[in-house]
Amino acid sequence: MSYSARNSLSATVFSEDVSALRRTGRLSAARWCPSPNYGPRPYGASISLLVVHSISLPPGEFGGRYIEDFFTNNLNPAQHPYFETIADMRVSAHVLIRRDGSLTQFVSLLDRAWHAGRSCFQGIEECNDYSIGVELEGTDDIPYTPEQYRALAELSAVICVAWPDISNDRITGHCDIAPGRKTDPGPAFKWHYFRVALAEAKSGQHSDEPPSKGVV
Ligand SMILES: [Zn+2]
Repeated sequence: MSYSARNSLSATVFSEDVSALRRTGRLSAARWCPSPNYGPRPYGASISLLVVHSISLPPGEFGGRYIEDFFTNNLNPAQHPYFETIADMRVSAHVLIRRDGSLTQFVSLLDRAWHAGRSCFQGIEECNDYSIGVELEGTDDIPYTPEQYRALAELSAVICVAWPDISNDRITGHCDIAPGRKTDPGPAFKWHYFRVALAEAKSGQHSDEPPSKGVV
C-alpha cells in the first residue's frame, strides 16, 4: 500500500486524511491535550520508527486524568504517594490509547516528543529524534483490551501510510530500545495479535476476535 495509492484510510475506529496528517501532525480522531514537553526534531531526521509504550497512573489503575496531568506537568504529588516520585519529570508521548480504544494526542507527530529517553534502535541512538511514541493505558502484566489492539493497529496503519519509512519491522516496544531500563509494554502485550490486527487494518479489514484467542 503506497501513499499515492491510498491517500486516506478509513477504519471502524477512525479515519484520517493522510495528506493533512503529514502536513499538521495532528490526528483528527484524537482529543487534543497539548503538552509543553516536546521540541523540534533534528534537521533532516526522518520519522521512521514507532515505539509502543504502556502507562497507568497510579500504576495498575485505569481511568481518570492523571496521565494527562503527568504529560502536561500538572500532576499533583499530594494526590498519591507514587506521584511524588514522578511529578517533576518532564515527559510526554505523541498519543495515548485508553482502555476503551479512544485516543488522546499530546504532541504533533511532526515534533519530537519526550517518550523514549536513553534508547537505541538498530545502532541508532536517541530514538526520540526519529520516532513516534504511542502509550497504551495499561501495565506489563494486565491484558490489553481488544479495543486497544484495534485502535493501535488502525493508528499504526495510518502512520505507516503517512510515513512509509515506518515499515512493519520498525514498530517496536520501549523495552526493546531501552533494554534493562524499561519493560513496557511488557509480556501482556501480544505482538502476534497486534501484527495480525495491523495486517487487517492495512487491508481495510478488522476482526472482533479477542486477543485471548489464538494468541501465543
Ligand atoms: Zn515507555
